[in-house]
Amino acid sequence: MKPVYLDYNATTPLDPRVFEAMRPYYQTKVGNAGSRTHAYGQEAKNAVERARAEIASSLGCEAREVVFTSGATESNNLVLLGLISHGMSTSRKHVLATCIEHKSVLEPLDKLCALGFEVELVPVTAGGYAEPDAVRHRLRRDTLLVTMMHANNETGVLQPVTEVAGLLADSGVLFHVDAAQTFGKQVDELKRLDCDFMSISGHKIYGPSGVGALIVRRRTSRRVPLTPIMYGGGQERGFRPGTLPVPLIVGLGAAAELARKEYRERAANAERLKRRLLMAVAAVDHRINGDLARTQSHVVNISFPGVDSEALMLALNSEIAISNGAACTSSGHAPSHVLRSMNLPDDQIASAVRFSWGPGVSEVPSAALVEAVLRLRW
Ligand code: PMP
Repeated sequence: MKPVYLDYNATTPLDPRVFEAMRPYYQTKVGNAGSRTHAYGQEAKNAVERARAEIASSLGCEAREVVFTSGATESNNLVLLGLISHGMSTSRKHVLATCIEHKSVLEPLDKLCALGFEVELVPVTAGGYAEPDAVRHRLRRDTLLVTMMHANNETGVLQPVTEVAGLLADSGVLFHVDAAQTFGKQVDELKRLDCDFMSISGHKIYGPSGVGALIVRRRTSRRVPLTPIMYGGGQERGFRPGTLPVPLIVGLGAAAELARKEYRERAANAERLKRRLLMAVAAVDHRINGDLARTQSHVVNISFPGVDSEALMLALNSEIAISNGAACTSSGHAPSHVLRSMNLPDDQIASAVRFSWGPGVSEVPSAALVEAVLRLRW
């Protein structure tokens, strides 16, 4: 038997309904959305525009504000690198981010530093979230941008993006939200959120990997100050040229639609599983990493004192597939920058594992988990 997959924050299985929606665009509806000379092209373009409209309606923005990309990594790079020229030409070279951002934000920010920008990382509390005041105190006249993830991928802790949007309103400071982990989940908050840019991804919401979007809002009549990072073809209003991956975009649209219709039910089921998991681990010594009251319903990060996370994952690898860090950085085995930023003790970090699940999961094999923890304790 295969282990139960509990690593939904790394990636989710494709919903079979999404797969069926995509299938014709691989097999029979094969046009290039940029081809104007035949019906295949028109059919592909219509499918892309339907997906764009669906994503826009689920985010409460305009369809033309949706720029399709290959995923949230590219969206984050596009917004951060794409603002360099604007920052240079306006002498606004101060950028704020939290210290728990994803590497696809932190590494482009290193590039900005190398170009003379000043990047300040806002600290987080022991509960894993940034305080809006910590952002407010750091705002300056030359602040170009605040970039903040909506939910942290390692802990599931939600960040105060709505409060930060409120304090940036009318300030002239741009606001980018990395919503890779919350698009299709924190649906109501995202729909009301007032920001300039938002990154989303398909493969975190039972859609395909390799597709996402950057939402580029036109909040005022000013021209959006974003410069593309690739050239050639002019697609996506020139912000992201290249032939559109029609089947992937159809899949992203279908996944967004299902999430919009089902998010409440999904969250309620996820919450039930979390309660059962927490009840089960109450039998052993453990610490929850991140403020549980602010954590998404489908994820929990737990340390089992005295149990090395690598040993626990190995002991459980025929029962449960879990992780002890972000998939994108776990090859490095460096201690998590997220848990470090929360000032957790070293042994708590060394014993931290993340459980994340979704609609496909009906039960967590908690008996096996508890048994492994008891067996491995130093
Ligand atoms: N930001 C966050 C918060 C994420 O969790 C991820 C995925 N781990 C990304 C960005 C990158 O998304 P993608 O895999 O779509 O490039």
